[in-house]
Amino acid sequence: MYICIICGYKGLEMESYGKEYPSGEVCSCCGFQFGEDDDKGISHDRWRESWTKKDCPFWYSPDYPENWDIEEQLKGIGITYKKSNVIRNSCPVCAFDGLFESAYDEEYGYPSDEICPCCGFQFGLDDYPNKNKGIQKWRENWIRKGSLWYSKSRIQPNWTVTEQLILLAKIR
Ligand SMILES: [Zn+2]
Ligand SMILES: [Zn+2]
Repeated sequence: MYICIICGYKGLEMESYGKEYPSGEVCSCCGFQFGEDDDKGISHDRWRESWTKKDCPFWYSPDYPENWDIEEQLKGIGITYKKSNVIRNSCPVCAFDGLFESAYDEEYGYPSDEICPCCGFQFGLDDYPNKNKGIQKWRENWIRKGSLWYSKSRIQPNWTVTEQLILLAKIR
């Protein structure tokens, strides 16, 4: 087993950067794919930063370790991280994770009526009459039109679309 140099997870099957080539393996923990995501110009630091900002979602749930302690794990590679209790609400259309409220109520699925500042989708409106189709279509259109930031009043200074698109490609 090898250690992921980004998140410190001790479960990689191959050395991330072997003798000559990157392994192409996806870290079960942080989701980074060596030789693929770095190829897209994403640095390890940047991936780690955006991953920890999302409160370290474990990527591949079947590998989720018992008693997983992310703070310990990151400490192992010299990163100090404090778990936050902030709940991030992400958009099911574009994966932007800064919605004010959960797009759909967890228990009953009621839409929040919020407009995603990133892709412009309004939950409870643009998902009518077919939620899944509506979401998919909107996403396709949004990407086709260049995945532009929607809301002029909620500009995010450090927002880049690259990571979000990678995330989207993986969850789709
Ligand atoms: Zn990792
Ligand atoms: Zn969105």
